[in-house]
Amino acid sequence: DTVYLNGQFLNKQKARISPLDRGFLFGDGIYEVIPCQAGKLIGFELHIQRLRAGLDSISISLDWSYQQWQDIIESLMKRNQAKDVSVYIQVSRGTDRIRQHGFSQDISPTIFVMCQAMASSAYLAAVDSPELQVMTQLDQRWRNCHIKATSLLANVLHFQHAQRLHVDETLLYNAQQQLTEGSTSNVFVVKKGRVFTPPLDNQILPGVTRAMLIDMLTKHTQIEVVQKPILLSDARTADEIWLTSSSKQVSAVVTLDGVAVGNGAKGKWCDIAQQLFDRLKFSY
Ligand code: PLP
Repeated sequence: DTVYLNGQFLNKQKARISPLDRGFLFGDGIYEVIPCQAGKLIGFELHIQRLRAGLDSISISLDWSYQQWQDIIESLMKRNQAKDVSVYIQVSRGTDRIRQHGFSQDISPTIFVMCQAMASSAYLAAVDSPELQVMTQLDQRWRNCHIKATSLLANVLHFQHAQRLHVDETLLYNAQQQLTEGSTSNVFVVKKGRVFTPPLDNQILPGVTRAMLIDMLTKHTQIEVVQKPILLSDARTADEIWLTSSSKQVSAVVTLDGVAVGNGAKGKWCDIAQQLFDRLKFSY
């Protein structure tokens, strides 16, 4: 496996980062995951746009153009003969001389890119995505969840909660008992043919898959997508629940805390959304 690190293409086993890298010491960095199917990147510009916004918001200055990112990613994919992978990008604030909270202005970011087999490489079409079981948990994360920061400890522990219970994902809710998102995904709830999803704010990551799906549904169907807070209690009586992410694409949730969602199988609206997603995903 070849990876990109600070200007070099290296064997993954040979790539080295200093223990004084702030990404290692503080989780001080931003990351991105871009899905690639049949050698084609999905939502490339949207992902890079989010990466840049994230870097900006934590004052890491890196003014790479879309073209610069694309050249490195394409070169990496070629070197790895990658077809169906996710491209992982991480930019940390860089390596300092000592461990200190305040950051030096004169360090340059550590830039790392690798290709990784998709976590759920068994399916490429959203329509084939597995039906998911999810548990719920009070959202324990910080108040800047719109930033795709590498400090993911709370997400990791939330996801581990699902693993421990032998389910697929943990769906999170805030102190007002409103759904925020999954530990690694965004959430949609369907009731009486209307599709609801929490609005973009500091409680959720602005998912690229979420944005693509909303755009597709709005432009290509009569289905109404309403972005507003969803009470957990309303989700419990939903007809359908979907999760979206770069690796899940659009997946149906069939049990919530052990109770069937709708009739306990993938619903008709999900099927429409998945087909639409498969038809249009390469145009983003
Ligand atoms: N929410 C969280 C917390 C995530 O980690 C992710 C990424 O996997 C998503 C939502 C979905 O974002 P995207 O569709 O851009 O992959």
